Amino acid sequence: MIYFDHNATAPVMREAREAWLEATEHNPGNASSPHQIGGRASAALKEAREKLAHFLDCQPADITWTSGATEANNMVMHHFARTLDAKSEVWVSAIEHPCVHESAKHYFGKRAKFIPVTHDGVIDLDWLTAELADTRPGLVGIMAANNETGVIQPWREALAICRQYQVPFFSDAVQWLGKMPSKGLGECDYLSGAAHKFGGPRGVGFLKVPHRSQVTPLILGGKQEQGRRAGTENVPIIVSMLAALEAREKQMARSEHILRGVWRENFERQLLHKLPGTVIVGANSPRLWNTVSALMPEGVQLRWLTKLDKAGFAVSTGSACTTGKEEPSHVLAAMNFKSVEAHRVLRFSSGWETTEADWDALANALAKVHAEVHHAKA
Ligand code: PLP
Repeated sequence: MIYFDHNATAPVMREAREAWLEATEHNPGNASSPHQIGGRASAALKEAREKLAHFLDCQPADITWTSGATEANNMVMHHFARTLDAKSEVWVSAIEHPCVHESAKHYFGKRAKFIPVTHDGVIDLDWLTAELADTRPGLVGIMAANNETGVIQPWREALAICRQYQVPFFSDAVQWLGKMPSKGLGECDYLSGAAHKFGGPRGVGFLKVPHRSQVTPLILGGKQEQGRRAGTENVPIIVSMLAALEAREKQMARSEHILRGVWRENFERQLLHKLPGTVIVGANSPRLWNTVSALMPEGVQLRWLTKLDKAGFAVSTGSACTTGKEEPSHVLAAMNFKSVEAHRVLRFSSGWETTEADWDALANALAKVHAEVHHAKA
């Protein structure tokens, strides 16, 4: 089976597995315990925090370990719901992950507003600038890169605009981290990430907050993580996440992601040539090197998916969290794709271990499946 669903989750890489095993076997303590074994666990957490702070360019104390990005994103909305006045709005992009949308709607109701995006899937900076001149929300949230389309968002520009108006800026960097260099991300006031998208284990992530600031905890019952999040820290998975990130940053320092972007582009060229009528979603925007969102010329998603699965390719219809839902993707709807079009969109997301030959094999398989889909329709 060739795996093209890394934006949903990625296999745990060797470095991360070894780090997890080492910490599990040799660092069994609770980081809050007052003895030497506890001290070793606490030192491992400190080292991991320092490493992440180094990559993000922030202070170690700004980082809180979480169970993943869903929790981190919920923490942000919960914190602002508890601290903003009853009239304040939060603005998040219309293409955020459901864990941002749902928690924003849960805590803010109608005071949660959605920042529009263009047909190419990029948030509308002109809209943001114009609206900020008029109204000041309590928070602006814009993801670093979209999970369905791979479209990179102008988070640096949005951050600069928000600074101008002194509005806190939050970015969900889940799909960026470990695929693009993380330098500078720590400038965002609030930033979330998760290990399982870049070769770390599932069930671990983080929230970065402004320096010397407190967060109203979502999980109560202990003083861990500077009182921001109760519960015994899972040292092995945190250490493992940092081992994965460190390895990915090294690969990016060697520009290994650039070559993978070329393979992705070659695949898109083949796709457009072999399957005329295919549309690459967000084709005119800068996109992550691993993601292709394609509007297929005919047939429904599930049919394509089943046939590709049989042919040995694991692909996706978009966000794993919305697979099986009847409604079309909210991301494609925000990009102004019609519902019937959205139901024809497939997402192919490669990983660091995907080869050029894998992309070629996928292009050939798609051509074959297309012939079958077309034949069945005729
Ligand atoms: N944000 C984005 C952009 C994602 O792609 C995902 C996972 O699909 C999440 C948040 C949720 O992350 P986690 O699985 O760590 O809770």
